[in-house]
Amino acid sequence: MATSQADLILDYFKRNPNRPIPHAEVVDWATAEWERLTGEKFRDPDRAIRRWHQVGHLQKVGKGIYLYDPNAVNIRELEDFSEQLREEIFKRDNYRCVVCGLGRENGVEIQADHIIPKDKGGHATLENGQTLCASHNFLKKNYNQTELSKRIFLRLLKTARANSDERMVAFCEDILRVYDQHGIDSHIT
Ligand SMILES: [Zn+2]
Repeated sequence: MATSQADLILDYFKRNPNRPIPHAEVVDWATAEWERLTGEKFRDPDRAIRRWHQVGHLQKVGKGIYLYDPNAVNIRELEDFSEQLREEIFKRDNYRCVVCGLGRENGVEIQADHIIPKDKGGHATLENGQTLCASHNFLKKNYNQTELSKRIFLRLLKTARANSDERMVAFCEDILRVYDQHGIDSHIT
């Protein structure tokens, strides 16, 4: 029996491998099943689905349609660094964060990071690995999010210009100016 709401969701996909499932079907089933099992309401089934997608257990194959492919999940887990590879990455980088140069002797935790993230097709190889301290690893993840939103504003600006939507153009230009002022994602122009 599933132990949590999130597990219940994943169970349903696992019982229907490789079938694209509209999210309403899963939500209806999980809501009824959770109520049957516990007598309680399933709070936020959408969030559980998004979460499994984020961690790579579900693939999004259309708007609100997800699929569980057991092979893809296994491949993704293969792309985690092994203990040994992690050690090789640390060793090559002299056990120091490649950004700030701090290491364990400075009291910081070091982590092996995928330069190209797993969800963008990055592999578990020495070349795709780098040593980061915990805070720079955290920052990198945050910056990936600012990168995504900058791309969104750039796209929005393009559309606004095409539509001669002056108000939206001005808004996007202001936002993008802030990115420039702070030197955030300056590699995206
Ligand atoms: Zn660092």
